[in-house]
Amino acid sequence: MELLKQLSQQLQALDDKQLIRKRRTVDSPCGPRVLVEGRELLAFCSNDYLGLANHRKIKLALQEGAAIYGVGSGASHLISGHVRAHAMLEERLVQFVGDHLEAPRAITFCTGYMANLAVITGLTAGDREAEIFSEELNHASLIDGARLSRVKTHVYPHADLAALEALLKASKAATKVVVTDSVFSMDGNLAPLTALLALCEQHNAWLVVDDAHGFGTLGDKGHGALEHFNLRSPYLVYMGTLGKAAGVGGAFVAAHETVIETLIQKARPYIFTTATPAALAHALLTSLDLLEGDEGVTRRAHLQALVAQLDNGLRLERWQRLPSKTAIQPVLIGDNAETMRAGAALYEQGLWVGTIRPPTVAPGTARLRVTLSAGHTSADVAKLIAALNALERDSA
Ligand SMILES: *Cc1c(COP(=O)(O)O)cnc(C)c1O
Repeated sequence: MELLKQLSQQLQALDDKQLIRKRRTVDSPCGPRVLVEGRELLAFCSNDYLGLANHRKIKLALQEGAAIYGVGSGASHLISGHVRAHAMLEERLVQFVGDHLEAPRAITFCTGYMANLAVITGLTAGDREAEIFSEELNHASLIDGARLSRVKTHVYPHADLAALEALLKASKAATKVVVTDSVFSMDGNLAPLTALLALCEQHNAWLVVDDAHGFGTLGDKGHGALEHFNLRSPYLVYMGTLGKAAGVGGAFVAAHETVIETLIQKARPYIFTTATPAALAHALLTSLDLLEGDEGVTRRAHLQALVAQLDNGLRLERWQRLPSKTAIQPVLIGDNAETMRAGAALYEQGLWVGTIRPPTVAPGTARLRVTLSAGHTSADVAKLIAALNALERDSA
């Protein structure tokens, strides 16, 4: 069949460039130790930053949620799928991040990917002349949201406030939407949110903050990037994911109530999909309590100690550390094949580290993406440090 032959040739072309991705099937819960093909691996590749994905209390809450609400929600939020647990979660999320917004309201989404599609298309739906200003290193879901909105999109260079300011000044659009990750997912560094917000307020632009990697991990209470930077503004549109530090799944947007009402009325990724099972929303209530409580404080402090340990322990010369203070600790290698060899060598030793290649990152910047979790012990991190230091020496 000619169509299949075309696809096979396209796959072969990926393979030739060392760009074929392989899935590994995990036979255990997400955690620092996972079972793959009968082997126990020490994993440094999940986004379960606080080690909550297999937390006893959240698992119990999920079971309780299923007992109360059943399993499927049966319909979209606007038909009959908006269940009490979803409403309670929205309220709880407003408590969580509402201090940083004006007249705050929140809505939940099935995934962060969908939340980002919804926010960007929703904010621009009423104005075909709207313009989007998107940070160069933004997550794919933000890029896709801009594409789906079909309005003019400017990509500004990474963290380049002057370039963004020039673009905003030159824009005649009545609706301007600046979009950025708070913690860059493949680099681990933080966006200059304080300065970005000032620019947005000055130029009357929305600031959409994707806090997928900051929610739960940043701020004393784990409230995320807005707490970390101590921001408050009606211009902020905040997106947090609930499948990373929160350990469950889904996402939410919190913003001024008028923004949220706009999303409910106009955002197709909200309207045309079945609501997540209410039991997940119920489990998330427990997860948020943990994030905000003493356990969250302890786990974040432990995570920070592990980040410092890695920082002090790595002695790399050819490979490059990126200046990250977050749980995302990339080791930049550059070449795709060398990155894959390094990943494979670590895997041989029982250390599972993510290998990231284009198009996820720019060509020539393939890397190991080490992610740390509060579930790791200091001995776990010591093992990784020793392996990485030795591997770089031996591969020279
Ligand atoms: C993971 C991620 C998303 C998508 O969230 P999901 O809930 O996994 O769909 C969006 N933005 C960033 C920056 C992410 O890292």
